[in-house]
Amino acid sequence: MSETALSARRDITDKRLLRSFSYIDGKWCAATSGATFEVSDPASGDFLADVASLSAEESAAAVDAAQAAFAGWAGLLPQERSAILRRWFDLMIEHREDLARIMVLEQGKPLTEARGEIDYAAAFVEYYAEEAKRPNIEGVTSHLPDAEVELWLEPVGVVALITPWNFPAAMLTRKAAAALAAGCTVVAHPASETPLSALALAELAERAGMPAGVFNVVTGRASTVVPPWTSSAQVRALSFTGSTEVGRILYRDSAASIKKLVLELGGHAPVIVFKGADLDAAVAETLKAKFATSGQDCLGANRIYVERPIYAEFCTKFTEATRALRVGRGMDDPDIGPLMNENAVLKQEAHVADALDKGATLACGGKRHALGPLFYQPTVLTDVPDTALIMREETFGPVAPITAFDSEEEVIARANATEYGLVAYVHSLDPRRIYRVSRALNFGMVAVNRTKVTGAPIPFGGTKQSGLGREGARLGMQEFMELKYVCRDWG
Ligand code: NAP
Repeated sequence: MSETALSARRDITDKRLLRSFSYIDGKWCAATSGATFEVSDPASGDFLADVASLSAEESAAAVDAAQAAFAGWAGLLPQERSAILRRWFDLMIEHREDLARIMVLEQGKPLTEARGEIDYAAAFVEYYAEEAKRPNIEGVTSHLPDAEVELWLEPVGVVALITPWNFPAAMLTRKAAAALAAGCTVVAHPASETPLSALALAELAERAGMPAGVFNVVTGRASTVVPPWTSSAQVRALSFTGSTEVGRILYRDSAASIKKLVLELGGHAPVIVFKGADLDAAVAETLKAKFATSGQDCLGANRIYVERPIYAEFCTKFTEATRALRVGRGMDDPDIGPLMNENAVLKQEAHVADALDKGATLACGGKRHALGPLFYQPTVLTDVPDTALIMREETFGPVAPITAFDSEEEVIARANATEYGLVAYVHSLDPRRIYRVSRALNFGMVAVNRTKVTGAPIPFGGTKQSGLGREGARLGMQEFMELKYVCRDWG
């Protein structure tokens, strides 16, 4: 291990947060076979931990534990569940710095971004600690003579959660806090690149007084530990964040037991900058939308359309700002850290080569960065044709393609010409145009003159092949509940 990673580990004050076993039924479990997989620091390639790689049988046992715990957890008073979630939130805030540093070690993101993610992750736990107390819905008035009508929301049962590596804490709490507040019990599988953040959160959940079996974290290869969940009739809902490709597999595999599904899948966000927009603000916001999390964000700006009269000025300013971004190791708190794995770097290379082949111009970057094999230079491509791969597929990295447009109608058609529909960004100061364009864009979320739109109280989610259902807000909790209708005649 390099000195950087070692000293970072020394910086983690509460060493009990560094867990490498799965957490099942209130116990820390190694694989019976002794199997493990390695987690490494993407900035240096250094070894971080050998983490338990559970078998299919051990993963199925986690479902049994969650099923056994369900009646007790669902039977608590709402305020009792709320109090445990609130303690979990308090512990996350107390251990914010350690949690952020664990995340930087395994994920590579800049320290400031990791701290921000811990705050974001904790906000879901705080929000759902409150919502746990009011799983209320609007009633209906009886339409039948002498009968009373009631609607009840009830927890669906055991919920399976599968989370990605780009937001290893927030994607877990956004799902888990909602499910737990609803009265469900949870089996969760964190991405194998970044299991340490999820295990640290399990340690804090235990300290918060979460009863055994209520919140289980199962580590191991997804292809081994997830099929016992999709095939289990006990698992009544499944919530996944990750690629559309894996989302399709989970959708198919959940069909046999007709599970409720929440799928937060890929994005391919357009940024549309109209003439008359505040150009400097549009540049600054688009820079954030493109390069946060080193571009590895499903909300990341993937294609940038700029109206022709301001196109040249936007390209110049955006390229200058991109050149000024600092690339470095997450612990040194740069603007951009390493990518997660070699495949991610290969994708940047393929998208850049393809765009240049098809006539785009390289304005800056375009190569691996000297810092190490997983670092890629922040890159700007201009005059990128719509036929280029980068204008059709998610890039998930620090490459920004820019192209010009001539009319509102044209740019809406180009922005909507995708199988994805997660988020779109619009920059304009014309209120009527903002209304028309926001209506016309076929995306689950539209951000106008800004980048940050997420948070615990908003319903996050996409249309088309960006997924199903919503996370966050009261809706996010209702995804894990069934509606029961009772029609009562007193006889
Ligand atoms: P991924 O390959 O889909 O992996 C995500 C999770 O799925 C991991 O826990 C992974 O576990 C598991 N998984 C992989 N193959 C599986 C299979 N055959 N069956 C069941 N589970 C399986 O995606 P990723 O590379 O981690 O994340 C990048 C993608 O996620 C991007 O496309 C991005 O847009 C999307 N994303 C979407 C959102 C959103 O909210 N919409 C947020 C973040 C990311 P292992 O690591 O053990 O393989």
